[in-house]
Amino acid sequence: MAAMKEPFPPFHIIGNIYYVGSQGIACYIIRTKKGEILLDTGYPDMASQIEANIRKLGFRLSGVRILIDSHAHIDHGGGMAALKSATGAKLVAMAEDAPYFESGGHHDVVFGDRNLFPPVKVDRIIHDGDTVKLGGVVLTAHLTPGHTPGNTTWTMDTKDRGKTYHVVFFGIVTPFPNMKLTGNPDYPNMKADWDRTMRVLPTLKCDVFLASNGSFFDMEKKHDALLKGASPNPFIDPAGCKAFMDRGESTYQKLLQGSAQNGAPGT
Ligand SMILES: [Zn+2]
Repeated sequence: MAAMKEPFPPFHIIGNIYYVGSQGIACYIIRTKKGEILLDTGYPDMASQIEANIRKLGFRLSGVRILIDSHAHIDHGGGMAALKSATGAKLVAMAEDAPYFESGGHHDVVFGDRNLFPPVKVDRIIHDGDTVKLGGVVLTAHLTPGHTPGNTTWTMDTKDRGKTYHVVFFGIVTPFPNMKLTGNPDYPNMKADWDRTMRVLPTLKCDVFLASNGSFFDMEKKHDALLKGASPNPFIDPAGCKAFMDRGESTYQKLLQGSAQNGAPGT
């Protein structure tokens, strides 16, 4: 976990998108003409790190107008309460994850009460397909549930050097190996939700491949290449994006086969 929180120098990724996360946990600033959008905050004790990263890039904390998230877990949304009070921004969250933000992670469908974080009020509840708009930027929320009931994958377009690219910020779309898809009384729809995520993934148009964890998209390697002047921008990676989605799908298929062999109900 220490390596996940290890500080990482903030940097410009592409177009109007900036990296402000740690080595392991990705957080993003999306610049608009009317202020910034912050996607994910990391653990509660990472808040000062994320705030410093935002400032290092020349943004003001008070310029952050909207907070959005991949999902309501301590490692990605645990710092929402702190960032909300530091910025004065409004928190937007998927309806299915909003109760977990507001309770501080109680009754999590996988972790129970083990990973609690400071609760935070959700200012705007959204649903699958809803958009967040600010200063000419439009982000679309795709419900990709299973990891949490409201796990969200965000998409937007960005312009870089005169070209427009489809950007995907994946939530967690790969199931834990060995997890039980059925029979969880706290999450009876888990399998149906993962089915839905697997249907959504192939519909996403992806040029720029980003995700909730740096390791998912080789953040460090691409960052180093970018600093050395790699062209085209290494974060433009449709092949890596496809491989990542395929990995999610094959992990899920293995789980399904495992459940079938164990004779689990509902498969
Ligand atoms: Zn999680």
